[in-house]
Amino acid sequence: MGNEVLFIAGGLLVIVLAAVAMLSTYRMYMKVRTQNSALLRLQKNTHMGSWEWNVISQKLWWSDEAYRIFGYIPQQFIITDEAKYGCLHGDDHFKVKDKIASVLTGDSNAYEIEYRIIRVDGSERLVVECGEIIRDNNGSPLQLMGTFHDVTDCRRVTDKQSLFENVFKESGEAIVITAVNGEIIEVNDAFTHITGYEREAVVGRYPSFLKSDQHSDEFYVQLWQQVELAGCWSGEIWERRKDGVVFPKALTIRAVKNGFDRVSYYIGVFSDITQSKLIEKQLQKLAFYDELTSLPNRTLCKDRLNHEIKVAHRRHEQLAVLFLDLDRFKYVNDTLGHSVGDLLLLEAAHRILGCVRETDTVARLGGDEFMVILTDVASAQSVKLLAEKIIRALSQQFILQTHKVVIGASIGISLYPDSGLNCEDLIKNADAAMYRAKDAGRNTFMFFTSELQMAMSERLDMEKKLRNAIELEAFELYYQPKIDLRSGKISGVEALLRWPGENGVMVMPDSFIPLAEETGLIIPLGAWVLQEACRQAVIWRDAGFDKLRMAVNLSIKQFDQVDIVNQIETVLQKTGLPPELLELEVTESMVMRDADRAIVILEHLRKLGVHISVDDFGTGYSSLSYLKRLPLQTLKIDSSFVKDLGGDGGDEAIVSAIISMANTLELKVVAEGVETFQQLEFLRRDGCSEAQGYLFSCPVPAERFAALLDIDRLVAARRPMVDLTSGVRCQR
Ligand code: C2E
Ligand code: MG
Ligand code: MG
Repeated sequence: MGNEVLFIAGGLLVIVLAAVAMLSTYRMYMKVRTQNSALLRLQKNTHMGSWEWNVISQKLWWSDEAYRIFGYIPQQFIITDEAKYGCLHGDDHFKVKDKIASVLTGDSNAYEIEYRIIRVDGSERLVVECGEIIRDNNGSPLQLMGTFHDVTDCRRVTDKQSLFENVFKESGEAIVITAVNGEIIEVNDAFTHITGYEREAVVGRYPSFLKSDQHSDEFYVQLWQQVELAGCWSGEIWERRKDGVVFPKALTIRAVKNGFDRVSYYIGVFSDITQSKLIEKQLQKLAFYDELTSLPNRTLCKDRLNHEIKVAHRRHEQLAVLFLDLDRFKYVNDTLGHSVGDLLLLEAAHRILGCVRETDTVARLGGDEFMVILTDVASAQSVKLLAEKIIRALSQQFILQTHKVVIGASIGISLYPDSGLNCEDLIKNADAAMYRAKDAGRNTFMFFTSELQMAMSERLDMEKKLRNAIELEAFELYYQPKIDLRSGKISGVEALLRWPGENGVMVMPDSFIPLAEETGLIIPLGAWVLQEACRQAVIWRDAGFDKLRMAVNLSIKQFDQVDIVNQIETVLQKTGLPPELLELEVTESMVMRDADRAIVILEHLRKLGVHISVDDFGTGYSSLSYLKRLPLQTLKIDSSFVKDLGGDGGDEAIVSAIISMANTLELKVVAEGVETFQQLEFLRRDGCSEAQGYLFSCPVPAERFAALLDIDRLVAARRPMVDLTSGVRCQR
């Protein structure tokens, strides 16, 4: 019994012990299981899988995450070494094998290698594999174990980060990052390069240490207001470098916000624009300033005038515009050369500047034209005094190199608001007044007045009518004979333009040719004259007057056209007039203005066979040396010298001198404006070859000139002089 009890008790003890043992095993099992699943979760979260490889049995074991990294569903198949290598990117295959081989052969005990895999779905990932070897006591490898880590995403982030770091570091533009309170957190190398401040010297400081005194406090307040409101400010700003130099920079400040829409820092990006500012300044100088005198040019002058008009309007003030043209500048320029002309302009600019206040504007509009804008004008009287002062200053002798020159100035004045409310009117009216001053004998000034206004509107009206008449070809040509003083017969004819007026009275060329020249209308008008005169000449030639040469007056504007030679050639071809029956009358000033060009053009015309004569000779400033080089046939002595012949003036000497000079140069001489027999006698005695004037005939219409030709033909050649005046009353 005792034994049975003992046995039972023993059995119970064994059962209890077994139960206790089972319980503790279960607890351990549960603990390991818990630890294992925690480990698996950890692996999943960190994209890190573990693996083991038995070197002896060649068996490979992967954790679930290891399968996932390679794109397999865990537990679906048993991984093998071969399958693993099958996933490796072809280019990385050997590098992995080499690494493992080096561990197995004992070169090292652990390794880390990075390689690419192609997952089952075809995507490429970057994996870091770490491995460690376990060896037996003899050092033979038993097992390799380690981890896979999918670093693709992580690498992308770090790559991006290093890209940003590089951009930040290498940027040519300076970058400043500040905290919300404005303290500098970071700057890049370009910042140091541009400002001269090292990173260490600026981190923790406020950027205001860069401020120059070029901007007001208000400027900065507005700048930051804009950053707060719009999140960004861009513009140009002047700041101070470490060496103290103030420089311009193009700056953009941006507020960077966090996920809660709060500004977390500010980024400032800027570049040094000193160079482009310099270029801009030079370009501006070219665009707005006169190169020679450095005075504002026409564009800037208009700009300033517009501005001053606004100011004057606001303050109820007067301002004055003085349009100034130097008298005789052209003569100096033409005779002494452009370099002396330039010196004269420079000195003139200097003298004008010396007459005005600093607040006034002196501009050069071009050529010898200047403009002065006087602001805050007290009265017309004060403007008058200033105009007189400028004229006095410019009338003083100029010493230019070795030349002593005296010029003068004509000034036209317009006042705001009396003679114009806007820039265009003020300039136009001052210009008109200046022309009046010139007409009034130069070296004087003239205010723009209502009479002038009237004259201007009359001029405008005339221009309109002239334009209209050109379109309708409402002009006529009158013809005046030239008489050969030896034979007494008509040797040539001059075509003179007439404009039949509305009231039947002929308008004479002196009253509309200047306007036609100013407006450019002389070009179509002159072309018509040439065409019509040639056409008429052909008619007379066909009627048997085959020696009659037709003279046509050329205007300076026509002469300036580049294709003038072509135009003349075309008219000759079209009308069929032989070139030797056409004579072109040019004036001295036309030819001497640009004598070298004139020589070329006249030579072309001469080659065509056309005759050239210099009209109104004696009134200009011919240079004899040029005269000799010009391909001329005739000089026409101006009527002003002929007028006094037979009197006791010095004009007789002038006429004699012209005739003898023409004889030396083998040129024909025609005396213009011969009205009396005394004049005629004098001219014949002195050897003048031809004459033209009311004594013979005034300019007459074509049919009456044809009648003159018929009479001339009938009269015996031996008769000394034809009196053509009978029946022809001349009126100027
Ligand atoms: P011009 O070429 O010197 O022409 C001579 C001017 O003197 C003409 O004036 C003529 O009528 C005038 N005249 C002729 N004989 C006498 C005289 O004995 N006594 C006086 N006091 N005058 C005389 P007109 O026709 O009034 O022409 C004036 C100027 O107008 C011309 O001077 C010429 O420069 C210009 N002109 C005339 N027709 C044309 C033309 O078709 N084209 C151009 N460009 N200019 C022209
Ligand atoms: Mg003439
Ligand atoms: Mg003349």
